[in-house]
Amino acid sequence: MEKYDIVIIGGGPAGLAAAVSARESGIGSVLVLERDKELGGILNQCIHNGFGLHTFREELTGPEYAGRFIEKAEELGIACKLDTMVLEISPGKIVTAVNREDGLFELQAKAVILAMGCRERARGALNIPGFRPAGIYSAGTAQKLVNMEGFLPGREAVILGSGDIGLIMARRMTLEGATVKAVAELMPYSGGLKRNIVQCLEDFGIPLKLSHTVIDIKGKERLEGVTLAEVDGRGKPVPGTEEYYPCDTLLLSVGLIPENEISGKMGVELNPVTAGPKVNESFETNIKGVFACGNVLHVHDLVDFVSEEAAAAGKNAAAYVKRESAEDTAEKDVWDAAGREVPVKPGEGVKYTVPERINAAHMGEKLTLRFRVDGVYRDCYVSVWFDGERVIRRKRQAVAPGEMEGILLDRELLLRYPGLDAIRVAIEPG
Ligand SMILES: Cc1cc2nc3c(=O)[nH]c(=O)nc-3n(C[C@H](O)[C@H](O)[C@H](O)COP(=O)(O)OP(=O)(O)OC[C@H]3O[C@@H](n4cnc5c(N)ncnc54)[C@H](O)[C@@H]3O)c2cc1C
Repeated sequence: MEKYDIVIIGGGPAGLAAAVSARESGIGSVLVLERDKELGGILNQCIHNGFGLHTFREELTGPEYAGRFIEKAEELGIACKLDTMVLEISPGKIVTAVNREDGLFELQAKAVILAMGCRERARGALNIPGFRPAGIYSAGTAQKLVNMEGFLPGREAVILGSGDIGLIMARRMTLEGATVKAVAELMPYSGGLKRNIVQCLEDFGIPLKLSHTVIDIKGKERLEGVTLAEVDGRGKPVPGTEEYYPCDTLLLSVGLIPENEISGKMGVELNPVTAGPKVNESFETNIKGVFACGNVLHVHDLVDFVSEEAAAAGKNAAAYVKRESAEDTAEKDVWDAAGREVPVKPGEGVKYTVPERINAAHMGEKLTLRFRVDGVYRDCYVSVWFDGERVIRRKRQAVAPGEMEGILLDRELLLRYPGLDAIRVAIEPG
């Protein structure tokens, strides 16, 4: 069985940034396994610009952003196996994968980095009544058809869900000559970035119908139209608000699900809110030497944060391998004995945090605690509480579930509270 120091599952932006960082941290034996025929992940189909504003201070397209990391990985001689699907990972870090060249094979890793990204929620999860005519696509599938295969899925479209992919596809379909009649969103707020609402809907005069959903689908062989209705506070359609939209295409942009079937099967503990692994300050899961980053960990709206998180995961995995491989166990013993993990809890207005546990003795000088809020709040504060004491309070003009938030924690501050039981992040009124 071939042996590697670090095996990375997924060659999207997370896997690539983790690989580059692990290699730059001095680990020579790094392997990326990617099921697709090329590296770059979902970015390959995102031909719009807006990527890399934080990382490169430039507006790049998705393939350009991915290209920078692919070049770097090539420069560093990082090994990659494409067209290779990982099927299973044992808790002992034996990776089982399959491809045409090698057939079914196993690899032994010292550390594993999970970077499998996420998939779109499909119609089956939505309970929309009606037949199953042609013309209903997930927004990501439509994006692949338009941007990579050169097919326009239809001429008149309605989009259900206002996540970023749906918003971007509303603009894309319009630019390709289709008419997008409306974007319907079940929630009273959009699930996407503000900038996408402005640039993809408002600039093109496409109506965003908040608190609306599809209640009926017309058409047997091919979609003929959909009926939208307003919903009440409990998500139930309000009688008398039905509106019929003739259309040949319905795009669904109703959520992303991190790809964690392999992670769950190997015993990685998952957070029911994010559907991603629970990790500590090092992006390490409950299984020692198994790290997670990118959309498999929690769904990101900006790839820059994916790269940042993945670089940290790669660096931490490299440090883990060095400690575990050293003949002299002194460094490992010091590491294992240092500090203890303190749970991070989502408080009022906060849905989840990443990481979920922090050991101040293991973190760098600063750590960005990422989180999403559970509703739209204006003129509010993001507060961090150490047990009963509020230690950080930052003003925010507005926060919304579609935009990932972050707050910086100082190691020095944490070390001043050796008896700390819990860290809590909360949204407080202004
Ligand atoms: C439509 C869309 C538009 C976006 N627009 C923007 C934008 O404008 N600006 C921005 O900053 N961000 C944007 N994003 C977000 C950004 O693209 C993602 O956050 C980023 O791609 C996530 O990177 P990742 O590596 O975690 O996942 P992915 O890019 O999904 O990569 C995961 C990789 O893992 C592989 N994989 C999965 N399972 C296995 C397995 N079992 N074996 C082997 N390989 C496997 C997959 O094939 C894939 O290549 C957008 C995302 C989408 C979907």
